[in-house]
Amino acid sequence: MITAEKLYEKLKDIQVGNPVCRFTQEHCELLLPTIRRIEELKREKNAIILVHNYVAPQIFYSVADYTGDSYGLSKKAKESDADVIVFSAVRFMAETAKILNPGKVVLDPNPDGGCSLADGITAKDVIRLRKEFPDHTFVCYINTTAEVKAQCDVCVTSSNVYAIIEKIPNDRIYFLPDRLMGENVIKHLEARGVNKDIQLWDGACYVHEEYQPESIDQVRRNFEGVEILVHPECRSSVVDKADYVGSTSQMLDHVRESKRDSFFLLTECGLTGVLQSEFPEKTFAGSCTLCKYMKFNSLEDILSVLENPSPRSIVEIDLETQKRALQCVERMFHYTS
Ligand code: SF4
Repeated sequence: MITAEKLYEKLKDIQVGNPVCRFTQEHCELLLPTIRRIEELKREKNAIILVHNYVAPQIFYSVADYTGDSYGLSKKAKESDADVIVFSAVRFMAETAKILNPGKVVLDPNPDGGCSLADGITAKDVIRLRKEFPDHTFVCYINTTAEVKAQCDVCVTSSNVYAIIEKIPNDRIYFLPDRLMGENVIKHLEARGVNKDIQLWDGACYVHEEYQPESIDQVRRNFEGVEILVHPECRSSVVDKADYVGSTSQMLDHVRESKRDSFFLLTECGLTGVLQSEFPEKTFAGSCTLCKYMKFNSLEDILSVLENPSPRSIVEIDLETQKRALQCVERMFHYTS
């Protein structure tokens, strides 16, 4: 059972941004009644809680049954035998859990948790594009709504996008909605001698779009031997200067295996906090950029959806959309199995 001491042990090394934001044992003690009640309700309802790497660390290190990136969490959602899945992240991820588990109750404690990528394209846009590009295979990033997935052929995540687009037998691909990730895919494939006609939608993650290559130059000048880790949602001029490019879970694995002891991360700063906690003997600096959508998540809202979910927090997808979106997501598992 979690105690304030155990929680503080996990949170004490996290220092992202302002030093006054550091966790204290007193703060952990204040969180304990809410955490204990959530644990009781999980047992009563046979519920599991999935938490994305960007969600606040007091949630990540207290009530989560599984943590990870969108690919890892969608696999957990697929394998789960729980009756209830609480998805603490943003809306499209909770929808993905429902696509994979139509017979289960999927609860979203953050129903207003949008995403600048998922909100940047509609199913109508895809229907129109399919008429314009009838011979292209439509590949969607997982950061899309269920309705958009239902109009696409194959879903990908940041951990498998390069490999899946390379494997798709069609040389004509329409990738949506992340233009920057799409540009990185094109460069990556060209470097491997793979030439495909890849059309791109003009969407972007508002967090990763901000990063500029100059900040990498500056960090390298000031910190000799630092390893630079970058998310593939960043612009290609940033990715070109990185030592490692990968999803948040891939970055975590990479740090575990790396011989270096100092790292600079260009991704949402929640991951920097997780790494500071997991590897206290190493040094991490990050961008300090928060995703406002991910940071809407709170322990109080998780408790509230388990106690008495509002209609908006119960994820519902009409049957036809669910079936078509499932095919799109299942093709991702097919290409990665
Ligand atoms: S970090 Fe970017 S891609 Fe991830 S949820 Fe936030 S807006 Fe969307």
